[in-house]
Amino acid sequence: MLVELVGGLAKAILNMPDEIDLYERAILLVFYLTEAAVILLRVDPRFTSQGFHVDCPVDPIGRVLRSYDTYDVAPCSACGAMVNTHHNAACLIRDKGLFQYSSP
Ligand SMILES: [Zn+2]
Repeated sequence: MLVELVGGLAKAILNMPDEIDLYERAILLVFYLTEAAVILLRVDPRFTSQGFHVDCPVDPIGRVLRSYDTYDVAPCSACGAMVNTHHNAACLIRDKGLFQYSSP
């Protein structure tokens, strides 16, 4: 089955190597350069591209209304801001990882 890749984030995720060794090297490099502790967690990235608008000023927060016409930049359902869908998805993945780490 041929899968059409459109977004840069999707291409980056699908092209990441399966070997953990590369990530461990990256973590060592970050630690060497910043002395910051880095913990590697696996996070399920599904449904993050159409998830909640991370910086939404409206309560309750809106969702990113992504479609084929608005793939890279899409409107928020609540505040109407045009959201970079890739940056928003990366923030949601980060937040899922932080929640996963802080939950027992
Ligand atoms: Zn919003």
